[in-house]
Amino acid sequence: MQIIRDIAALRLARRHLVEAKQSLALVPTMGALHAGHMALVAAARQLADQVAVSIFVNPTQFGPGEDYIGYPRCEAQDAEKLASAGVALLWTPPREAVYHPDHRTFVRVTDLGDDYCGATRRGHFDGVALIVAKLFNQIQPDYAIFGEKDWQQLTIIRQMTRDLDFPTRIHAVPIIRESDGLALSSRNAYLSSAQRVAAACFPHALQQAQSEIRAGAVVADVLATARVAILAGGFDAVDYIHLVDANGLGRLNSLRPPARILAAAQIGQARLLDTYPL
Ligand code: AMP
Repeated sequence: MQIIRDIAALRLARRHLVEAKQSLALVPTMGALHAGHMALVAAARQLADQVAVSIFVNPTQFGPGEDYIGYPRCEAQDAEKLASAGVALLWTPPREAVYHPDHRTFVRVTDLGDDYCGATRRGHFDGVALIVAKLFNQIQPDYAIFGEKDWQQLTIIRQMTRDLDFPTRIHAVPIIRESDGLALSSRNAYLSSAQRVAAACFPHALQQAQSEIRAGAVVADVLATARVAILAGGFDAVDYIHLVDANGLGRLNSLRPPARILAAAQIGQARLLDTYPL
C-alpha cells in the first residue's frame, strides 16, 4: 500500500492506474477505523480493480467548540488495517495540503443540509460537501463508497455528485453494528464503559419504533415514546428523531416508503447518529 501525503504524488499514482486501465474506488474516512469502515473497503474491492482510502479529519465540517482537536487519530493502526485489507492507496494529507491559508470556496447543497444534523451543526454539511468535492477532484475515483449510517450526508453527496456532474458513481453500504445493536462509530471511543452499555438503548428504541410504525401505529406517538426510552436509558439529550422521506429527507407524519427514521442523541461526550429503514 502506497501512503501518499502530497497532491503531486497522488496525481502520479492516479495516472499510473489510468495507464494500467485499472478502475478505482474511493472510501473517504476521518480515520480511527472500525469494522464499519472496513465493510466500505470490502464493498469497494468488489466494485473496482483498486481501492483508495482517504483519512483526513476535515476541519471545515467541525463547528466552533466541536471535537476537531480531540477527534480520535490513530494513523499507524489504521494503515495496518488498510494494508491487510488490500488497499492500494492511502491518501492522508496534512491540513495545509488540502486547505491553503486563503481558501474561500464552499459547496452548499441547498435545503438538504438545513434540518436534522444541519440544524444543530450549522455549516457542517457545507464542509462535508466541500471535502468530498475536493477528494473527487484530487483522486478522480470511478466509485465512492459511503455508509448508510450518515444518511443525511449520503443524500447530500448523491445530490452534489449529480448537480456538479462528477462522473463518480456513489455506492452505499448498510450500517455495521455491535452485537447489542449499537452502530459502530469512531465517536464510540468517547463512551465510558457504563455509557457504552447504556448506549444500546438507542438502537433498541429505534428498532422498536420501526416495527410499531410498520404495524400501523401513529408516527408521532411512536417517536415520542422512543424519545422517552432513549432518555430513560441514560442519554443526556435527544437532538432529533424523525420519520423522513428516504430520498428528499422531508418529514413524514405517516408512513410513505421509502422512508427512514433518522435520529441523533447525546450521551456524555458522544453525539451518536442512527437510522432505520422503513
Ligand atoms: P467517518 O470516518 O465517521 O467520517 O466515516 C467514514 C465513512 O464510514 C462514512 O461514509 C460513514 O457513513 C461510514 N461509516 C461509519 N460508521 C459506519 C458503520 N457503523 N457502518 C457502515 N458505515 C459506517
